[in-house]
Amino acid sequence: HALDGYLAKMIRAGYRVAICEQVEDPKLAKGIVKRDVVQVVTPGTTMADDILENRSNNFLSAAVVRDGVCGFASADVSTGEFIVTECEIEKLGDTLVSISPSELVVETDQVEEIEALLIKTGPLPVITKQDAWIFGKSFGQDILKDHFKTASLKGFGCEGLDAGIMAAGAVLHYLKETQKTDLSHISRLVHYGEDGYMHLDAATRRNLEITASLMGGDSGGTLISIIDRTSTAMGARTLKSWIRRPLNRLDPIRERLDAVEVLLDRKDQRDAILSLFRGMGDLERLITKVVTHRAMPRDLAALKQSLERIPDFKKQLEDLHTSLLSELNGGLEPTEEVTDRIAGALVDDPPPQLSDGGFIREGYDTRLDELRAAALSGKDWIVGLQSEERKQTGIPSLKVGYNKIFGYYIEVTNPHLEKVPASYIRKQTLVNAERYITPDLKEMEEKILHAEEEMTALEYSLFDALRSHIAGYASQIQMTARMLGRLDALISLAGTAEQYRYTKPEMDEGDRILIEDGRHPVVERKLGPGESFIPNATDIDTENQQILIITGPNMAGKSTYIRQVGLIVLLAQMGSFVPAASARIGVVDRIFTRVGAQDNVASGESTFLVEMNETANILNNATPRSLILLDEIGRGTSTFDGLSIAWAVAEYLHDESRVRAKTLFATHYHELTELALVLPRVKNYNVAVKEWGEHIIFLRKIVSGGCDHSYGIHVARLAGLPSGVIARAREVLHNLEANELTPGEIPKLAQGNLGPSLVAETQLKLFSPVERSLKEDLEGIDVERITPLDALKKLAEMKQRISDESNPEEGSSPSEGENTPAPEPFVE
Ligand code: ATP
Repeated sequence: HALDGYLAKMIRAGYRVAICEQVEDPKLAKGIVKRDVVQVVTPGTTMADDILENRSNNFLSAAVVRDGVCGFASADVSTGEFIVTECEIEKLGDTLVSISPSELVVETDQVEEIEALLIKTGPLPVITKQDAWIFGKSFGQDILKDHFKTASLKGFGCEGLDAGIMAAGAVLHYLKETQKTDLSHISRLVHYGEDGYMHLDAATRRNLEITASLMGGDSGGTLISIIDRTSTAMGARTLKSWIRRPLNRLDPIRERLDAVEVLLDRKDQRDAILSLFRGMGDLERLITKVVTHRAMPRDLAALKQSLERIPDFKKQLEDLHTSLLSELNGGLEPTEEVTDRIAGALVDDPPPQLSDGGFIREGYDTRLDELRAAALSGKDWIVGLQSEERKQTGIPSLKVGYNKIFGYYIEVTNPHLEKVPASYIRKQTLVNAERYITPDLKEMEEKILHAEEEMTALEYSLFDALRSHIAGYASQIQMTARMLGRLDALISLAGTAEQYRYTKPEMDEGDRILIEDGRHPVVERKLGPGESFIPNATDIDTENQQILIITGPNMAGKSTYIRQVGLIVLLAQMGSFVPAASARIGVVDRIFTRVGAQDNVASGESTFLVEMNETANILNNATPRSLILLDEIGRGTSTFDGLSIAWAVAEYLHDESRVRAKTLFATHYHELTELALVLPRVKNYNVAVKEWGEHIIFLRKIVSGGCDHSYGIHVARLAGLPSGVIARAREVLHNLEANELTPGEIPKLAQGNLGPSLVAETQLKLFSPVERSLKEDLEGIDVERITPLDALKKLAEMKQRISDESNPEEGSSPSEGENTPAPEPFVE
């Protein structure tokens, strides 16, 4: 009885708990009652209601590395979901984050390797080590085939996934070991492939604050917190899985969008469906309890009242004609057999626990009715006994009572003891009374207790039979639950679209994203009173406007703008309407983000290394169908290093046809605006502000063109830095800016009236490869061995290269820097 209180605490603290119980009836046991471990509860395998979070899945995963591939499988034993995938080893962290399991089973020898792969992507789940044989290939195949009672795994589309099957086998084995119960509700293994889904890496999930906020804590500032208005736990879990895995194929995206559109337009039906959802039980977890023999009478009652609504759901869906809604309707199974059976067997309002008894309806079982009648008549006899004995003995305060130790007794208070008849047998003395029994009373007691005992056992076995019978409908009920989850998620999307004025995005397979009056779904809801969100347009493609450099002062709204584009695309591809006046979106394969400064001390990575890792990931994996959001690159190092890296990254994204992705690049390096002079698909935009004396007013409007001020000192003042620091910063800034100018007060990078082409050339000189190649040459010289003559020759050659670089038209031998257009020398 103390288990419930302790179990939740221990599991939350990451412990594994073994539960021991007596496994035979103490009355029948000879000698010591046999005890055994009946269940092992762990964070990833718990089925306890007070530990599980209703609106989220609770996954147990296993990961294994074999032959350069990572197998990853996950099961939610509370709902019966079981999924398997394979990924490249480096992507294990991303895969883990997309599932976010509570516990991860790993082969003992691979713990370190796997932890090292995961630590980069965030906090680790509880890691459970298991022996290597559990991850064997034939072991995996056998345990899975045996569980699903199939001859092969072909039917699940998992036949070729060797590493995946090893992981899935380990998950199933671990569940069987810990649960020691029927797991037939885990009735299918779903291949959770990447095909058809947008890939979101862990950094992007984090940066876009899809389901968890960067600030940690509750999910207040997340996208899911804004759009989730699902009514049921099944719907909430479905919506979460959709937002975690947006689609990347046109047809399924359009199917969801069409369904949301119809539900939005047909408000009457939507309201009717919403009222059907009200008070609905969590069918997935209810049926799991039934299958695992943990369902209590009230669980069955909840199952019944939920399933009874299915015909009404079907009626509402009948004339909503979209392919997805029709499919959902087809998958809803009325299962009247189940509801009738429960209705016939259980009383209308059953007690919570089996031990309470009295949950089987009268008329359901003749023997039970007889026993009840016998117990009742016995009790009536006892009630009658009290008045009978009072009359016979003349003791007005005589009472017939019951306690667990002595059973039924007759109680007489001390003042009346002399009237007690001789036939009474004294049993117990109290301070002011005596308790007696009589042979008749004992006999009746025997009858009542016997009837009650038999009644309890019979009621339990009737209930157990009912539960087992209903378990036979598990897969139908699971299917119904999945359909209801989807319907709830779609209704939720329609409700959000209605309340926040989202519009249906037009999806195509082109490469352009055209958004009119787009808004950031979270920021627009979080603005203070009197503030209103300023919508902005976006037009980006791979032909003309591929890289948009967004400059603007601090606090202007750059980050908000680039994220809003990412979130609008993500919403559209999960099947949601979007916060924009209109949107036309060419489906993207991946969204990448590189945002802000964050270090990962736990894995020994500095802020800048994290930044460079994220950048490398983007450059290595982006495709022309990707969308890249860069919020500063190179801020974690010195200005020149950072600017150079940022410049080279932009060039690479522009020139390398393999990664020519649509890119929004917010930056404070206003030098980057000069990229537009040399790269045709780079366009400059800035977030407009108005200067007003000492103050600036943020207009939050994205306009064409670059911006050459950061107003950082202004923001520092807003943040409350001491006025002395602000004044000194102004002086230093002034000095720095003066140094950027030529003696004639002309910015060094934009020499006088030399026109844009020269500015471009000058800029290119800054990034000319000559210096680097000279350095490499110098490094290549072995000073110990070079002869004086060779050294002189080398020196002459290097000098020649520098002069060739500055005056190419004078003709010279080709060199590394030859292709670079040569700028005029600086006029200082
Ligand atoms: P920094 O360069 O300092 O990172 P930033 O230009 O990226 O600044 P954001 O962080 O995007 O600026 O925006 C600052 C704040 O401005 C946001 O938190 C939000 O409150 C507000 N804001 C941004 N965009 C808008 C908008 N379009 N309409 C209304 N308010 C906005």
